[in-house]
Amino acid sequence: MSLTTYRETAHTNNYEFTSGAGYVLPEYEFVPPPELNSEARVRHPIVIVGGGITGLTLACSLARLGVKAVLIDEDNTVGVKGASSRGICYTQKSLEIFQRLGIFERIAAKGTQWSVGRTFAGDDEVYNFDLRQQGNFHLSSQPPFINIQQFYIEAFLVDRVQELGAVELRWQNRLTAFEQTADAATLTVETPAGSYRIEADHVIDATGSNSPLRKWLNVPFDSRRGDDRWCIADVRFTTHPPAERHTWIEAPFNENRAVWQHLMADDVWRIDYQMAPNADPAYVSREDVVRERLARQFGPDVGVEIVWVGPYAYRSECVHAMRHGRVFLMGDSAKVVSPFGARGGNTGVADADNLAWKLAAVLRGKADAALLQSYQDERLEAAQQNVCVTNRTARFLRPADGSERLFRQAAISLAKQYPFARSLINTGRMAVAQPLQPVQRVHLRNRQRGRPVGAERAFPMGRRHPRPGQRPAELGPGRSAGAGVRRPRARRAAAPAPTLPGRAGAQRAGARHRRRARPGPGTRARPQGPPAGGLPCVRPRLGAGAPRRLPRRHRRNHQRPAGHGHRAFPWPARRQNPMRQDLHFQDADAFYEQLLDAHAGLSREDAELLNARLILLLANQIGDAKVLKACIEAAKRTPS
Ligand SMILES: Cc1cc2nc3c(=O)[nH]c(=O)nc-3n(C[C@H](O)[C@H](O)[C@H](O)COP(=O)(O)OP(=O)(O)OC[C@H]3O[C@@H](n4cnc5c(N)ncnc54)[C@H](O)[C@@H]3O)c2cc1C
Repeated sequence: MSLTTYRETAHTNNYEFTSGAGYVLPEYEFVPPPELNSEARVRHPIVIVGGGITGLTLACSLARLGVKAVLIDEDNTVGVKGASSRGICYTQKSLEIFQRLGIFERIAAKGTQWSVGRTFAGDDEVYNFDLRQQGNFHLSSQPPFINIQQFYIEAFLVDRVQELGAVELRWQNRLTAFEQTADAATLTVETPAGSYRIEADHVIDATGSNSPLRKWLNVPFDSRRGDDRWCIADVRFTTHPPAERHTWIEAPFNENRAVWQHLMADDVWRIDYQMAPNADPAYVSREDVVRERLARQFGPDVGVEIVWVGPYAYRSECVHAMRHGRVFLMGDSAKVVSPFGARGGNTGVADADNLAWKLAAVLRGKADAALLQSYQDERLEAAQQNVCVTNRTARFLRPADGSERLFRQAAISLAKQYPFARSLINTGRMAVAQPLQPVQRVHLRNRQRGRPVGAERAFPMGRRHPRPGQRPAELGPGRSAGAGVRRPRARRAAAPAPTLPGRAGAQRAGARHRRRARPGPGTRARPQGPPAGGLPCVRPRLGAGAPRRLPRRHRRNHQRPAGHGHRAFPWPARRQNPMRQDLHFQDADAFYEQLLDAHAGLSREDAELLNARLILLLANQIGDAKVLKACIEAAKRTPS
């Protein structure tokens, strides 16, 4: 293949087009790989496909552990060519991981720290928070958030991988075909100097939201594409708003639609404008239109330099499984979420962090290959939760006309007055790591003798990492003990068989010691993985039909009282209707009259709004989701 047939990379991640002077991104040299001129089929233990934030975090984590790997990326730069403005907010958990990888100081020096957020509706501030006052953000020495353009982090990771060695970065190497058997995975790679084939034991799909591997492997996934479109504008001002996260649910300067405002590195502000459903993205993103909107927001005299603009349509997707034979999906190739709450890139970082130490342990023979299955169990749950959380935000920000809009109106008006209602204002639930539950213990095993040689207790609730100076026990180079994680006997018995095809898989299925992985950062420890096919809360939000009933073992809220046998797993209790059915009013007639009087003389519209407010106020008085659910069901089922 000649140099000229190599195709340039296209926009990815749903930007329709972009404009502005843009950012100057570093460019990395194409180096012809040795396989191009060799007849011999080379086999690599790990091939990472995709050098975005996820693939590079994995590459850096492996390099730090001294594990050899190859990363291929079709581009010659960081960020996505032509769509370089994407992630901006990096959460404390990711910053902890970056600290371990040795790039936190670079990020802190370049980026902007923030902890205060303010939410406005019209001209009123309805809600504010300071993350530094919240317990969940007191867990490590890193700040709650740093804002920095995603491509800076990626560039720091590239530099760090090169400093550490062990992982080879191959730019302008595009994966064009893939097959896997019980023996190996084979990748066909196209480069400007021709194509070549390599084999791999483990393949990491970090190719982002348009993953070709996902298509070739026919990976089932749930998907929902909304009609909510935003115009992303990165700008510099002559004025200096406070370095806080400001969000408007209804911004007067954006025709009462939502606006986000964040400071990033280099004094660049990210301003996201929600567009009208029928807006023309080309018009809304035109430079003069952007300037006019900025003048409405910051005053006519504000000096503005437009760095970059692009319209963006959000969608959400989640695969049903994150492992397919030798292929591990991570980052956006596994799930795509709207950016509300800064969850996309941050979970990609946590995915990579989760798999890296497991691959290292397995490749060194310190853990059984079955350990790798725990990546899928733990990270799929995280992916599903992120889809669930961001879809709820998307629904709040773009409510369907009718009752959804009415309830949002009721929530906003109540929030201006009552603290409880502020928690209903959903402009993005910022990514927070889940503290470990104290159910899990990690045992380092001596493989020769098959007995534990040391035990690492999961960090207690509320602490995910050791205090400064304390070394987190992890499976890295230099640890001599064989590694495995023991889980309670009852759960081990229910362990799913490993999914690798062929002899290796069969051997593993019969492995003597089944192990449970210690949870990766950002992962909540659970006794078992989520049900195949997705968490019930995710599927309907993705438009995937009615929620399925959880398998029994996941209905963990009912524990059989002690003395009913010795089974360790949750036991479903007899279902009881938690709704009161007896008379509870002190004076039924007076209550009824009160309601009638409250509605007297109101138009239908005002009565509906009053009712929505009333429901929210009363729901808060009830404070129990089960009771509310039973009441909703009773109201729906009552014949007219
Ligand atoms: C407007 C916006 C704001 C956002 N804000 C945030 C935020 O504040 N915080 C946050 O955490 N996340 C945020 N996100 C989400 C975040 O940008 C993504 O989740 C993140 O980029 C996913 O990273 P990734 O590495 O998985 O995929 P990508 O970044 O898409 O990387 C995929 C890589 O794979 C390469 N590739 C693709 N196909 C091939 C192939 N065939 N062969 C070789 N290489 C290939 C590409 O060149 C690319 O480098 C935001 C997204 C948007 C659009």
